[in-house]
Amino acid sequence: MKIAVIGAGVIGVTTALELASHGHEVTVFEKGSGIAQQASFATAGFIGPAMINSWTAPGLPFKTLRKMLFGSDTLSLHGLSNMPLAWFWQWQQASKHPFHKLKLEALQRLAFYSQEVLTGITEQYGFQYESSQGCLLICRQEKDLKNYQPQLNLMSENGINFKKLDPAETRKLEPALSEEQSFHSAILFPNDSIANCRQFTLLAKQQAHLLGADFRTSQEVLPLLPDAPLIIRTTSGTSEKFDHVVICAGIYSKPLVKNLGIHIPSLAVHGYTLSSSVRQLIDAPVLGVMDAKQHISIARTGQRIRVSGIAEIGRNKKPPEQCVALLYKVLNDWFPGAAKTHEAVQVWRGTRDVLTDGVPILGHSGVKGVWLNTGHGNHGWANSCGSARAIADMVSGRGCEVDLKGLGIERF
Ligand SMILES: Cc1cc2nc3c(=O)[nH]c(=O)nc-3n(C[C@H](O)[C@H](O)[C@H](O)COP(=O)(O)OP(=O)(O)OC[C@H]3O[C@@H](n4cnc5c(N)ncnc54)[C@H](O)[C@@H]3O)c2cc1C
Repeated sequence: MKIAVIGAGVIGVTTALELASHGHEVTVFEKGSGIAQQASFATAGFIGPAMINSWTAPGLPFKTLRKMLFGSDTLSLHGLSNMPLAWFWQWQQASKHPFHKLKLEALQRLAFYSQEVLTGITEQYGFQYESSQGCLLICRQEKDLKNYQPQLNLMSENGINFKKLDPAETRKLEPALSEEQSFHSAILFPNDSIANCRQFTLLAKQQAHLLGADFRTSQEVLPLLPDAPLIIRTTSGTSEKFDHVVICAGIYSKPLVKNLGIHIPSLAVHGYTLSSSVRQLIDAPVLGVMDAKQHISIARTGQRIRVSGIAEIGRNKKPPEQCVALLYKVLNDWFPGAAKTHEAVQVWRGTRDVLTDGVPILGHSGVKGVWLNTGHGNHGWANSCGSARAIADMVSGRGCEVDLKGLGIERF
């Protein structure tokens, strides 16, 4: 079948790879000049079901809003109108018991499956993309561990492996942790990993191309039309008919399907990543490390140290150096000698497409031939390969290997 994929971030590229390996004739349309240049550019790199953080939990929406409005270094809302009331209300509903638990379970299922599919793809094609095994959540105080406890309980129920460590045990695994920084405990997730999302996406693109996928960059697709949803029109004036269209346009998916009567309740939540060269390997983290209080991560991917976090809604008028001061602080707290921060540091501001219930939309859109693989929020890299395979299986008329309960558009 002739299939159009719109968007060449990690989601669109993995979808193209899966569809091409199913034998379809695939064309990828990307408005940028290259691939993985938007949200998939400099992710923190976390993969696996344990580090999946739900965007929903009882009380979380009001707590977050309060922090955003009344001063927090990690959360900010610039202009109340940037968080529409209807969006907030839906978020509040999804955060109630038992919905939030079902959402987290759906995310963990998808992350488990995605990890399996990623491992298979890596072995099949011999990809190498700066990956390392194991992640650590560090709790500065007992309170951080208590806040995380409900999530740990759910992990135990769902068979996700983890181990609580005291500071001495933690320092054995992470010898470069600053001696001056005291902390309460840490949790080791041995099966989660860190890897370079952009590098993987570039490899997946090459492989999809070898399997016949056609990547058309600098081609912006115009919103789909209700009387001809399978005709792809671009701003450069081209028009072409397909048998199926898969929307993988991240935060831009919403306007693409609006005319079809499909409402995607996404919100643009910005975050930052600092990337700097490793100064001394001996001073760098071995595992992917997450500061449980600040929700800021530090990880080494290849020769780079990446520090990532912050959730910002709306336009921050502060200069970028001020927005990222906390990232530098957290890096210095835990791994003061790890990165060459006095040399050129890349500061990246990326935009996540966060849905009201924090889980992606995967499946048929309700309009014949139009499919959705979007709304991946904080976990698009972790969930990319499984989501792509599930969509390719559905488009090809095969059964899915993963239970997609709770991930369809019909929930909105
Ligand atoms: C700071 C930060 C850290 C993160 N860390 C992690 C992490 O550790 N682990 C993890 O799993 N996730 C992480 N994420 C989330 C992850 O980055 C996203 O979920 C993921 O990259 C989404 O991929 P995507 O392909 O859907 O979107 P994108 O990468 O944004 O791709 C969408 C593409 O569609 C194109 N497009 C849009 N509209 C059109 C159009 N009309 N025509 C043609 N092309 C179009 C865009 O140009 C873009 O290239 C992080 C995000 C941020 C911001």
